[in-house]
Amino acid sequence: MKKHNFSAGPCILPQEVLQKASEAIINFNNDDLSLIEISHRSKPFVAVMEKARSLALELLGLEGKGYKALFLQGGASMEFLMVAYNLLNKKAAYLNTGTWSDKAIKEAKAFGKLIEVASSKDKGYSYIPKVYSIPEDSDYFHCTSNNTVAGTQIKEFPETNVPLICDMSSDIFSRQLDFEKFDLIYAGAQKNMGPAGTTLVIIKEEILGKVERHIPSMLNYQIHIDKDSMFNTPSVFAVYVSMLTLQWLKDLGGISFIEEVNNKKAALLYNEIDRNPLFKGIVAKEDRSTMNATFVLTDDSLKEKFDKMWQEAGINGLNGHRSVGGYRASMYNALPLYSVQALVDVMQELERKN
Ligand code: PMP
Repeated sequence: MKKHNFSAGPCILPQEVLQKASEAIINFNNDDLSLIEISHRSKPFVAVMEKARSLALELLGLEGKGYKALFLQGGASMEFLMVAYNLLNKKAAYLNTGTWSDKAIKEAKAFGKLIEVASSKDKGYSYIPKVYSIPEDSDYFHCTSNNTVAGTQIKEFPETNVPLICDMSSDIFSRQLDFEKFDLIYAGAQKNMGPAGTTLVIIKEEILGKVERHIPSMLNYQIHIDKDSMFNTPSVFAVYVSMLTLQWLKDLGGISFIEEVNNKKAALLYNEIDRNPLFKGIVAKEDRSTMNATFVLTDDSLKEKFDKMWQEAGINGLNGHRSVGGYRASMYNALPLYSVQALVDVMQELERKN
């Protein structure tokens, strides 16, 4: 029996995707060759890359609207740098809502003036700041839609005339948004898409070409666009698994279908956190993430007992991020509702026994 996998990333992927991916490692496309021993320029792999790129745009509703999808390397962390390299001329505005926003700010600082429009750092990133203004002469505004470590999520994005850039690493494809509002979206694959090793970047092409500096080829979005995301050897396996996961999501009914399931999972767990006197949430209720639920025990002396109970129930990956402690239940797209129920059952059993 597979474990209930609440890991924050890399994390659970659909079982049928893992099955197909493992078959492709041995015999891809019935060609008696492995996916990872053929040329990335071979017809079957070029078809995989093209399918992955078009599925990403299709699921987000961005096909034919001036956007390009790329599968790059270097993780979402590389995008902290690439965004600034490609788009920051003089001044950019950033919203600081968590560890990852903070790192994005740090990387971009080398390229121009950074305006931190608001920050929740002083309160341990336990809420999303809502009142701030974005200078109209900013080259862009950058935010993080879901804060994987603290467990908060932006529910409403600001109206702004400047290009809107968003790190959606931990909630892309999990909820319906007006994606056309965004000019650049990036996300490491290892949450809702696939294994670590590739990063999806969605760019509205018209925002490029406005900086003077020389951009090294590997960091240049335009070069990757011109080469159809094949400027150099892509992470073939990670792109293939991402393609399978995106196809899985499409077959299920797309983002609007999975959003309903995700809302049910989040409601089930947060209701228990709020109802059960042995637990409490640690972030503002209105900003709670549907992907990463963070919580603590109200009585620390129960830690050993609780940890033993959830591990015995076949639950994996519930420890909070090392910088925060407590617990974090990550409920990405592939996590079934019954896994959340299994966790809730353990929380109720702990209450009964104490
Ligand atoms: N942004 C967010 C929101 C993340 O959750 C993560 C990774 N957990 C990153 C960026 C960094 O991603 P990577 O490790 O792929 O560089």
